Amino acid sequence: WPMTLDIPFDNTYAQLAPEFYSRQAPTPVKAPRLIAFNDALAARLGITRGRDEELADIFGGNVVPEGADPLAQLYAGHQFGSYNPQLGDGRAVLLGEVVGTDGIRRDIQLKGSGPTPYSRNGDGRAWLGPVLREYVVSEAMHALGIPTTRALAAVATGETVWREGGLPGAVLTRVARSHLRVGTFQIFAARGHQEALRTLTDYAIARHYPEAQGPMGLLRAVRDAQVELISAWMGVGFIHGVMNTDNSSIAGETIDYGPCAFMDVYHPNRVFSSIDRTGRYAYANQPQIAVWNLAQLATALIQLEDDPESVLDEATEIVHAMPDLLQEAWLRQFCAKIGIGTVAEGDLELVSDLLQVMAQGQADFTNSFRALFEGNARDQFLEPASFDAWEARWKERIQRETDAQARMARANPVLIPRNHRIEQMIASAVAGDYAPFERLMTALAAPFETSEEFADLRRPPAEDEVVQATFCG
Ligand code: AMP
Ligand code: MG
Ligand code: MG
Repeated sequence: WPMTLDIPFDNTYAQLAPEFYSRQAPTPVKAPRLIAFNDALAARLGITRGRDEELADIFGGNVVPEGADPLAQLYAGHQFGSYNPQLGDGRAVLLGEVVGTDGIRRDIQLKGSGPTPYSRNGDGRAWLGPVLREYVVSEAMHALGIPTTRALAAVATGETVWREGGLPGAVLTRVARSHLRVGTFQIFAARGHQEALRTLTDYAIARHYPEAQGPMGLLRAVRDAQVELISAWMGVGFIHGVMNTDNSSIAGETIDYGPCAFMDVYHPNRVFSSIDRTGRYAYANQPQIAVWNLAQLATALIQLEDDPESVLDEATEIVHAMPDLLQEAWLRQFCAKIGIGTVAEGDLELVSDLLQVMAQGQADFTNSFRALFEGNARDQFLEPASFDAWEARWKERIQRETDAQARMARANPVLIPRNHRIEQMIASAVAGDYAPFERLMTALAAPFETSEEFADLRRPPAEDEVVQATFCG
């Protein structure tokens, strides 16, 4: 049949030298079937919608669309602190790039599209659960106003993927400002490949930070983007789960939704990921891990100089400024959550004390902050007396603020993608019922709105619904 779908590809990464990637077409699947397609995002990308069968063929990997130049990208990275000298897209291919109606260039990547030269022992595939989790959580993140990769499509493959047992396979189409990672720089630095590192640096500056001056300008820009990103995560109780340097985006987006989770009950040391045994990527560790990751980027970038010592002071200064910048952004974020527009003396203590009361009172993170705005926060705490004492101080402080209510309404979402809802949605989808997926997508598209219809999605998990651990796909 004639193709009605048009993707206006305009590829730049595929023009770089072959050392940056391996040309790799997606591996066809048995029976592609469209599960979800993001029409609003497609429109922004300038993609005209085709028939469902066409979309399934293209975003399932059976048909390479006109203008695509599929490839697997090469990168390395520190995984849980240990350097892995070669990773790369092991189950993803970049179809190409488009420049959207908003003028922004974005990658279109299939994830779960079959083996590549970088698959190591993996099967190159994904199963339905993680594909739907990433679809829901990344789109929820976007609706929350937090920089993130997006989900364009989900396609069931009609094939079985073997994990603990047999599971239905799926392919996710991920859209990102780019897939450049800290690990993309690390691999060429570690190999002493200065020319490639220079090309990559110029490419990243031109694509993401055209105002940045040279490698140290890039380092500074990535730092600032990461500061905004991580403090935004903290503000919604998000735990990424695998903040390895290969999952740290140069463009400053949340990338690689694996064993991630939003916290229900607040605790600073909360960990969900089944593979994070030491709690390296616990909730409250995320800012300092972001600094650690930036230090790895700095280490790579200084090797652009014939004499790395010449920029060592500047690189050190850039990295060393990051903890304070994170602290400031974090405090601004949490002050806004309690209605404070301009941070003043004593506010750090006020915020810290609230978090401590929340931890002690086993308060639900999202609902407690929202309840501060709605005026019924007391109910969220196991021992309300300690909250009462805090509340008196807060009420006193907030008198000096104008627009506190409006500020709190904007900073405290009603709905987040709660783990137990995600797990229930996945179980339904595996059984062939996609209604919970559709419902979650509808509700989470407007996370700051209170509606009776979605009141059940505000509820924390019942005891038997609590998700203890999350897994990679
Ligand atoms: P992640 O922890 O998700 O960032 O993945 C680390 C590396 O493992 C990446 O290079 C992935 O491409 C690769 N990988 C993950 N799952 C698979 C799989 N099923 N098959 C092949 N490679 C995989
Ligand atoms: Mg990854
Ligand atoms: Mg992953």
